[in-house]
Amino acid sequence: MPLPLVWLADVLRGAGLAVVEIPGWRTRTAPGALPRPVGVLEHHTATPTSPARPAPTVDLCIRGRPDLDGPLCHAVIGYDGTVHLIAAGRANHAGKARASGPNPAGDGNVLYVGFEWDYQGVDQGPSPQQYTAAVRATRAVLDHLGRPATAARGHRETSVTGKIDPGHVDLDQFRRDVAASATAPAPGGLETMAFTDTFTDWAHNRQTVESWMNNVDRRIAELHAAVLGLQRSRIPGDRNTTNAANLWFDAGNWTNQALGHIVAIRAALAHQQGTDPTAVADALRPVLADVIGPVIRDAVTDALGADNDHQADAIVDRIATCLAGQGAA
Ligand SMILES: [Zn+2]
Repeated sequence: MPLPLVWLADVLRGAGLAVVEIPGWRTRTAPGALPRPVGVLEHHTATPTSPARPAPTVDLCIRGRPDLDGPLCHAVIGYDGTVHLIAAGRANHAGKARASGPNPAGDGNVLYVGFEWDYQGVDQGPSPQQYTAAVRATRAVLDHLGRPATAARGHRETSVTGKIDPGHVDLDQFRRDVAASATAPAPGGLETMAFTDTFTDWAHNRQTVESWMNNVDRRIAELHAAVLGLQRSRIPGDRNTTNAANLWFDAGNWTNQALGHIVAIRAALAHQQGTDPTAVADALRPVLADVIGPVIRDAVTDALGADNDHQADAIVDRIATCLAGQGAA
């Protein structure tokens, strides 16, 4: 039987986090009752860390301390925001837990997924990357468990022995940040949103994904028509009407139009936390390149002959590069 938390790797990666699976984590467990988590418990390791030494406590969390057997948590969140998976079974991170927020009292090692943020906690707070990673990781786990943001607790809120961790973290603010953080889209992104989901676009209008996609469809169709129009406007037999320079110029205009759409799309999606605009632009790029590419090749070949394919390719490459985001940031 797999240990109960083996889904952590996929869930955390799905939230866009950098995840390191420490060898053996899937079968690592302390003796005793296995987790049936209802929340996430946040800790600090009490070890000083730095960008150069972002996760020095991983080994200790696996082996344990003289007074406490490992594993000591399920994941270590490094000072650089990388998540190191330690154990998929029971971990000795929580001890006996008081009731806290929506979570009951009991065996904390059953009730909670345990995250150790690797920082010192008294003289040192978490780094911004570490904090953000913890917010996203916590949200992803709570979503997987079907639990609210309030089910995220700090060790100092459940401890019966006076623990102070996680130091320098306002836990109410942390929960608000967890609540506000969107779950990252699965690879591929947009298709995880429903057609009827609404978002605020760059012009501060609310619109649905469906209306936005219809707009993009219409713009791609216009672009396609514009490219086809170039071929149609060429006077048959007159090689001067369309030459490589004109094609380049027109392609530049279309590129700018397309770029404008991409910038607008990026701006729209930037308003939704957790959506990576570059990923969206990259996802759109092949669609647009598919529409533009063959038409340009045909147009160049018509105008200049088949031995000018390289010019067509250069134009298509330039458009693809622009669509990929250079100059659009
Ligand atoms: Zn702790």
